[in-house]
Amino acid sequence: MDFTLSTEEKEVRDWVRTFVKREIIPLEPDVLRRERAGQPGLAREELRALQLKAKEAGFWGVQTPTEYGGMGLSAVMTALLQAELGRTFVPFNFGGDADIILYQANEEQKQRYLLPTIAGERRSCFAITEPGAGSDAKAIRTTAYQDGTDWVISGEKTFITGGNEADFTMAFAVTDKEKGADGGVTCFLVDRDMGWKSEPIATMGEWGPAALVFDNVRVPQENILGEVGRGFELAMAWIGRGRYLLPARAIGSCERLVEMAIEQAKTRVTFGEPIANRQAIQWMLADSAVEIEALRWLVLHAAWQVDNKMDSRQAQSMAKLYGGVKANEIVDRVLQIHGGMGYTRELPVERWYRELRLLRIYEGTDEIQRRTIARNLLKGHASVSGTLG
Ligand SMILES: Cc1cc2nc3c(=O)[nH]c(=O)nc-3n(C[C@H](O)[C@H](O)[C@H](O)COP(=O)(O)OP(=O)(O)OC[C@H]3O[C@@H](n4cnc5c(N)ncnc54)[C@H](O)[C@@H]3O)c2cc1C
Repeated sequence: MDFTLSTEEKEVRDWVRTFVKREIIPLEPDVLRRERAGQPGLAREELRALQLKAKEAGFWGVQTPTEYGGMGLSAVMTALLQAELGRTFVPFNFGGDADIILYQANEEQKQRYLLPTIAGERRSCFAITEPGAGSDAKAIRTTAYQDGTDWVISGEKTFITGGNEADFTMAFAVTDKEKGADGGVTCFLVDRDMGWKSEPIATMGEWGPAALVFDNVRVPQENILGEVGRGFELAMAWIGRGRYLLPARAIGSCERLVEMAIEQAKTRVTFGEPIANRQAIQWMLADSAVEIEALRWLVLHAAWQVDNKMDSRQAQSMAKLYGGVKANEIVDRVLQIHGGMGYTRELPVERWYRELRLLRIYEGTDEIQRRTIARNLLKGHASVSGTLG
């Protein structure tokens, strides 16, 4: 079995590692200070400036197909790259990407939505969750009825990432109550100026999701993405686009946190000795290192399955579940190793702690991943002997 990265993979990873170290990590104290003053950590212009710097070196649209001007990187490469970006809590992403389902738009919609999103001129958000429908996404109640050549949408969405900033949303609404999710949900491309409103939701992290309100919002027929009644499939395609990417980012976060813990353990002296000399501390470091390594291979294996066009759902759920659970255990240990200082706002550990908690909730909670994994086993879609020949 060959675990070596190709020369190209190493070059790309090393470039991103250096970029994060030189350009992004130095911004951390400032970002933290601003977040604590209730402002966004990175202003839009700052993000844009960083993205342009990366673009000059060719890093733009990492997963965007080359025919759309992107890099079209493989899933394995993207996972390696996300792990590097995860080494900082500064919310940076390379520009030039668009939601996967926008590629299913027709030519005219591509001009209005896909291409400007790739160019960074328009911002989107994906809106399926509602106050009464999260894990059970089929229970959505937002409705759309046809009125002449328009559709009229009413309902409420919640926890929508980017919903405060987006100028259009991919909103999912019931267009046929009888059929429900099985042929009765449609996806609409809805511009903000068509009339939906957003309201920020205060959370323990810095994601700042929004509640969206649709009060009889009129949307022209030509803004239906895909086909009437086929929206639920699009929603599942969006969610399933790359579950491995979320735990991939956590790999980098955990690496950085454990590096901080090692430093702390070597320098903090209690009872006349560095705490690194204590078995209790060493075990925390050792367990964390093993778990990071296990997570790395779960993520890369899932990504490898994606690249090889295999059914990667089981592997992706496993990586997402393990990543969420272990990243939270690791950040907790790292905080513990820092003692009282870990609990303060002088250090960034509590910032990571709050951020990583989300990994156990969004894009499928731990429980929903376990449900998927167990169902695949029980129905015979997957086996415990894995995918080795
Ligand atoms: C910061 C943030 C950003 C988000 N971004 C987006 C976004 O951009 N777009 C979007 O549409 N949504 C978004 N979400 C919504 C997110 O996907 C949901 O919060 C998530 O799917 C869980 O749904 P819920 O919050 O309604 O919890 P619920 O579904 O109400 O679950 C509550 C608890 O019950 C458990 N549970 C539920 N069903 C079962 C079951 N069958 N068996 C066992 N346990 C179960 C859950 O695991 C959880 O622990 C975001 C959420 C957050 C917090």
